[in-house]
Amino acid sequence: MARRRPSNREKSQFYLKGGIIPEIDPDYYIVRLRTPAGMITPDQMSGIARIARRFGVSQVHCTTRQTVELLHVKHEDLEKMAAALERNGTPVGAERDEVVNITSCLGTQNCKYAVIDSLSLAKKLDEKFFGREMPVKVRIAISACPNGCTSERLNEIGITGLRKPIRNMGLCTGCSTCAHYCREQAIKIVNGKLQMDNSHCMLCGFCVHACPYNYINFDEPRYLITLGGKRGRHPKIGRTFFIAKSEDDVVAVVEKIIYWIYRSIASDKMLPEQLTDEEFAEFRERVMKSLEPLGIEGYKPTHAFALR
Ligand code: SF4
Ligand code: SF4
Ligand code: SF4
Repeated sequence: MARRRPSNREKSQFYLKGGIIPEIDPDYYIVRLRTPAGMITPDQMSGIARIARRFGVSQVHCTTRQTVELLHVKHEDLEKMAAALERNGTPVGAERDEVVNITSCLGTQNCKYAVIDSLSLAKKLDEKFFGREMPVKVRIAISACPNGCTSERLNEIGITGLRKPIRNMGLCTGCSTCAHYCREQAIKIVNGKLQMDNSHCMLCGFCVHACPYNYINFDEPRYLITLGGKRGRHPKIGRTFFIAKSEDDVVAVVEKIIYWIYRSIASDKMLPEQLTDEEFAEFRERVMKSLEPLGIEGYKPTHAFALR
């Protein structure tokens, strides 16, 4: 069957795609890809190189948001290049007022510190929210532990993996191995007995594996969701919004946040600049109530990090 030629309207829609970014010279464009969590297979990488060579692209840029940009693309090559990138499984991405590339660290699949499977969560969030048109740009980032390698709290929506250690105080010998291991001075040994200072504990769970007697257990992993962070000229750290118990709960909470941004936020400023303390508290309260009928209950934070 002959391929249908795109109409002028479809063509103009194509140029509106967020991943097509005009350069200083308006005859050339940057083509940004959709690569959730920055994961690309070797075949896709070869494919990107092949496509770059085919269209005379001499340089490819790896961005801070874990995506790839093909530089200095001629205006007349855009449509063919986009089709080739689609076939390669690395389609044109997003950059405008929309949900842009989801960033994530490697998580439990590769990192020994990880608490959550951040790649699996990134995939779910990408499938559901990527490219959704919004009044402001919405960045989502995931770190699988409080080390925060993706600076997730400097994003409009940040997700951090948490793990709460549970000690068997009756058996603890007071050997202090876990106290030496803790980077936050949250564990003290006083008169041979272990004392926890929860105001310092970051819920990283790193002490769990330090105990030579295996007296430290751990709770199920949790997902700290923060709202209203940003980088740029005036960086802001996102505020604690919710602590979820599962990936699906995270997706449900993010859905509420995205819908609220879509309905309530104006397009003239970035989200964090519009989010007053009162609005944040009021919205948080509303989301909590709306999640109850779905059986989603927020984990009650008891440690300083999760409350900040
Ligand atoms: S945030 Fe934690 S889990 Fe993720 S890469 Fe960094 S250290 Fe590993
Ligand atoms: S979970 Fe808390 S106590 Fe354990 S190592 Fe991390 S900060 Fe220290
Ligand atoms: S390492 Fe184990 S036994 Fe030693 S102080 Fe910590 S919890 Fe107690």
